[in-house]
Amino acid sequence: MKAVCWMGKEKMQVHDVPDPKILNPRDAIVRITSTCICGSDLHLYDGFIPTMEQGDIMGHEFMGEIVEVGPGISKDKLKVGDRVVVPFTIACGNCQSCKDQLWSCCDNSNPNAWIAEKMMGYSPSGLFGYTHMLGGYSGGQAQYARVPYADVGPLKLPSDIPDEKVVFLSDIFPTGYMGAENCNIRPGDTVAVWGCGPVAQFAIRSCFMLGAGRVIAIDRIPERLAMARAAGAETLNFDTDNILDALHDMTGNRGPDACMDVVGLEASGHGMMYAYDRAKQMARIETDRPIVLRQAILACKKGGTVSVPGVYGGLVDKLPMGAFMNKALTMKTGQTHMMRYMGPLLERIQKGEIDPSFVISHKLPIDAAPEGYRMFRDKQDRCTKIVLKP
Ligand code: NAD
Ligand code: ZN
Repeated sequence: MKAVCWMGKEKMQVHDVPDPKILNPRDAIVRITSTCICGSDLHLYDGFIPTMEQGDIMGHEFMGEIVEVGPGISKDKLKVGDRVVVPFTIACGNCQSCKDQLWSCCDNSNPNAWIAEKMMGYSPSGLFGYTHMLGGYSGGQAQYARVPYADVGPLKLPSDIPDEKVVFLSDIFPTGYMGAENCNIRPGDTVAVWGCGPVAQFAIRSCFMLGAGRVIAIDRIPERLAMARAAGAETLNFDTDNILDALHDMTGNRGPDACMDVVGLEASGHGMMYAYDRAKQMARIETDRPIVLRQAILACKKGGTVSVPGVYGGLVDKLPMGAFMNKALTMKTGQTHMMRYMGPLLERIQKGEIDPSFVISHKLPIDAAPEGYRMFRDKQDRCTKIVLKP
């Protein structure tokens, strides 16, 4: 089959690789009909994360048709021919974290968790296409993928709804929604959202769904700011506006009720998390540029909430801890607990409350993935979100 392979920093290539096989009784194989490039993939593209190996298959936002099911999965859960969207997180469904609905913290889905624990001081759960530190699972930017614990994650879909409306249930719609939910929004609240990338676009719309009165969205890419305004947000440009002054002015000097960082690593001083030294197994360098997080803490009203769906790894230092503590702020974050949100958000799509396809700027054949990565990273050709058709 064809697959998008990581071959080094800024080096994605499409290769012919062996088809995936069922390895464990609860595996299934999906024939992929749509798969996307995510801002999280850019962290790997940019070479920010050290534990990729040449030939690793990229991608964690995919959907398609089940073509093979392991013997450990009962027919009422999943069978050949089912149309599914697959969450980017892998969860066993049986451990204490899964029982507590903390699906992205599954204790069993990352066979390399112990190495990560040694290197980073915590043990992340398994994700598709996202480094050996997170399990080394082959991703979904391919024609087929093996889905572990396939009786837990994949959501069955009706046949009459096009891929473009449901493929983002694999990650960015639930991620934006959980980011908004983590803002503890009360009716009429003002939420400031850093970033207007694809995840933030869903975060902005989710804030309004959850009752926000105002959303103030921050970026510098004109078409992304325009997309935020189309959802009803007011916008600021971080190239030309003084963000902290503007947010204070716009909220009568109180500050937004909640602040959301939907940027992550990109604005936190790139070098920092790549400093894991494999031999010494420790992180050596800290960032001194957690720009977005720092602004979010400084802008937020007293007693407010800082929600961080943006992805971080390693150390981030020089946060304004004094402001954080003395303003009695709350911070909420995490990889998305996908299985809490996929079903309810599918219902919202079916009811016509939102059509997630608004965010798509490009549909490309899988062979064009290397060019797609470059366009998406460099925000060229008004690129907001790419769907690949394998
Ligand atoms: P993206 O790279 O397309 O978007 C990031 C946006 O942030 C860009 O438009 C960029 O111009 C903007 N930006 C950069 N610096 C900024 C600053 N100082 N102030 C305001 N905006 C700034 O990425 P995306 O696909 O939208 O993803 C956003 C983040 O969400 C990434 O960190 C990604 O890894 C993360 N993510 C998290 C989860 C989760 O489970 N928590 C899931 C998916 C993605
Ligand atoms: Zn993603």
